[in-house]
Amino acid sequence: MIGKQFGRLTVIQEDKESVRKKLHCSCTCGKSVSVRKDALESKSEPTQSCGCLQKEIISKRCRKHYLCNHYLYKIWKSIRQRCYNSNNANFHNYGGRGIKLHKSWHNFQNFYIYVVETIGFKPTIKHSIDRIDNNKGYRPGNLRWSIQKEQMFNIRTNMLVTYKSKKYRAQVLAKEFDINYDAFRSRIRMGWPIEKILTTPVKYRTPKTPKKLDVLSLVSKSHPSCRTTLSVRQQDHESS
Ligand SMILES: [Zn+2]
Repeated sequence: MIGKQFGRLTVIQEDKESVRKKLHCSCTCGKSVSVRKDALESKSEPTQSCGCLQKEIISKRCRKHYLCNHYLYKIWKSIRQRCYNSNNANFHNYGGRGIKLHKSWHNFQNFYIYVVETIGFKPTIKHSIDRIDNNKGYRPGNLRWSIQKEQMFNIRTNMLVTYKSKKYRAQVLAKEFDINYDAFRSRIRMGWPIEKILTTPVKYRTPKTPKKLDVLSLVSKSHPSCRTTLSVRQQDHESS
């Protein structure tokens, strides 16, 4: 077994004491690891590196366009969700009524280049990509940055969402599942699938109030008996 190669790994030592027959291997990247023999010999997914191979594959996938953290990538992903994922809460307003993403824009790079070259980067944080003609898809000549849509979205109280193939008024559904309506709407805007919107508890960020905390610590220092109640209350606040 010693000297045998498995992908990037070379067996350098057999661990005879281990119950599961572990082998010490050196990886081409310079690391050495201990791997179970059966994992190396597995026919479906054999271990072939110290973990460096998997990391490279993931980062390559991401680096393909170097932009997976760019806001345009998030926008593009959420457009695709609305247009092609029938489980998306907003699908009936987009894919469900024939709104599609232009063929060449299924490749993110093409979409990115078009946006940057023709309508430019997002003018302000309040802007979102909008279709000029609401009945036409996401295609060249039909995109603009707009804040109007956002405003319309906010005043649209009778917004409908699709859940389990049925349409519901968003407010009704949010109430039914005890999800704060503002959170509900912002989740829709972010392109979450409806199931996730309804089943993920809303976390409220604890506001940063250093002054208050200072007061709390002063109080608890001077009255040790208060400490327990105060910290319990704080926890309650944080976990709510
Ligand atoms: Zn390695």
